[in-house]
Amino acid sequence: MSLDFDSARLANPHFNEEHLAWREQLRRFIDTDIMPFAEEWDERGHIPTSLWPKASEVGLLGLGYPEQYGGIPGDIWFSQIANEELARIGVGGINASLMVHGIGLPPVLNWGSEAMKEQIAPAILRGESWISLAITEPGGGSDVANLTTTAVRDGDHYVVNGAKTYITGGLRANHVSTAVRTGEAGAAGVSMLLIPTDASGFSRTALDKKQGWWASDTATLYFDNVRVHVSQLIGEENQGFKVIMTNFNSERMGMAIQMEAFGRVCLEEAVAWATQRKTFGKRLADHQVIRHKIATMKQKLNATQAYIRVCNESMAAGIPNPGDIALLKVQASEVMEYCAREALQILGGIGFMRGSRAERIYREVRVNAIGGGSEEIMRDLATRQYGL
Ligand SMILES: Cc1cc2nc3c(=O)[nH]c(=O)nc-3n(C[C@H](O)[C@H](O)[C@H](O)COP(=O)(O)OP(=O)(O)OC[C@H]3O[C@@H](n4cnc5c(N)ncnc54)[C@H](O)[C@@H]3O)c2cc1C
Repeated sequence: MSLDFDSARLANPHFNEEHLAWREQLRRFIDTDIMPFAEEWDERGHIPTSLWPKASEVGLLGLGYPEQYGGIPGDIWFSQIANEELARIGVGGINASLMVHGIGLPPVLNWGSEAMKEQIAPAILRGESWISLAITEPGGGSDVANLTTTAVRDGDHYVVNGAKTYITGGLRANHVSTAVRTGEAGAAGVSMLLIPTDASGFSRTALDKKQGWWASDTATLYFDNVRVHVSQLIGEENQGFKVIMTNFNSERMGMAIQMEAFGRVCLEEAVAWATQRKTFGKRLADHQVIRHKIATMKQKLNATQAYIRVCNESMAAGIPNPGDIALLKVQASEVMEYCAREALQILGGIGFMRGSRAERIYREVRVNAIGGGSEEIMRDLATRQYGL
């Protein structure tokens, strides 16, 4: 990895010796246990089950989670480093699959009962059990408040009917943190339920013809009169919207950090190619047009990185600004898209061939611009802070 990838990050004043040691440790693990196989896993459509326990051992799965459930303490800057290093792999499907507990487990740990946490968290953080987050439905994902999967109370149980789609890790999950309607129309009638996938009436199918994220399993989940005990309620009944919105902040921060780093991977591959490829008797890098493309990529990446730092500082201070995080996500997906496009343009024909990280990242732009809240929805959310 070239110095360019590291230099901007080394300048972050929040990174101390421990953070840098974490980066080295994680990078060794990724370079040894993931990088050599990453492309093969993506092409074949999944990562090996053995990767989860290995990622647990190195501290990746448990990072930032409570020690009592097998987690490892670590501030927000450790997480930033983890997201950057994972993005360096250049295979978004690996990150999405390996780290899906990052969106599925926090609702349980932040809002679930103690019994629920003890029951599921340790095995997930050991990499021996899997959890997904199911909000999106076949009828729509953006309009979360109007979801239609119902959970109707029947004695000590809820009876769940409906479907969820595009669910990351949905084929493998043992549990699913699921958004359901328990009450009136709109946000005030939404609850979160932890649904075990061995429950009677639960089924799932694969969505495996995707533009990117091949290494990640994506599924549609069906609930046909699935009986779920009331003790599986995450948080209070009809308070699920709050759970979902809180979760979105950290999901979007993680995505933004990864998108910026994906963009930097594209910059690096573009620089490497521009330095070695010759046209019209000189290196591509000696053509001013190409140098300007490279400069603009770096300019946009650095600006995004600064915005990430500002939002992370607010998160660390316990005062996250959802509007800014939403705009950061838009900034990051636009910059990822710009860098992927420019890198492929500089790579020329070889950029159209599978085999480079930039080519894959180009195919993974859209899922980042849509998943976790689309660019349009993010902009809307930000303007709502002005009462618009
Ligand atoms: C690979 C992949 C993995 C995913 N993983 C998960 C997961 O693990 N869990 C999960 O719950 N979901 C997951 N999603 C779903 C994702 O969050 C949704 O796709 C996303 O929220 C958008 O929902 P939608 O696809 O239904 O689009 P829609 O909501 O139908 O929107 C379609 C388009 O219209 C735009 N639009 C909608 N409303 C408005 C409006 N009011 N104004 C302007 N434009 C609007 C949207 O921005 C979008 O561009 C995943 C998606 C993908 C592709």
